[in-house]
Amino acid sequence: MAKAKRKNFIYKNEEFTCENCGTLNPKGSKIRNHCKHCLCSKHLDDLPGDRKANCEALMQPIFAEIDKKRGYMITHECTKCGFRRRNQTLSDDNFDLIIDLVAKYNKMTLENDPNLYSIK
Ligand SMILES: [Zn+2]
Ligand SMILES: [Zn+2]
Repeated sequence: MAKAKRKNFIYKNEEFTCENCGTLNPKGSKIRNHCKHCLCSKHLDDLPGDRKANCEALMQPIFAEIDKKRGYMITHECTKCGFRRRNQTLSDDNFDLIIDLVAKYNKMTLENDPNLYSIK
């Protein structure tokens, strides 16, 4: 996995229909890169907004953690290439699912699960 330098955050704010659950995610006041209902994302970027990934596979939320500064952070993993990315949650995200993902994170922490790694 290539180490991506974090710079030039160019998010696109656009309406999209989720390829996983079919929910229409309207263009909002904040940039959204994952579905508000199932929280799935798509592997389009290596750096946020660069559209340079040639993968385009579904990225599933695998766990979520609480960041002191930024709130709930979801880690997405690409179902095809395994690329991982952390994403900030938005106020209209499916909160029940976020709580499930935090529980998953806590369980993995307790069990010292080797799959528990995220991009800081
Ligand atoms: Zn969805
Ligand atoms: Zn991928």
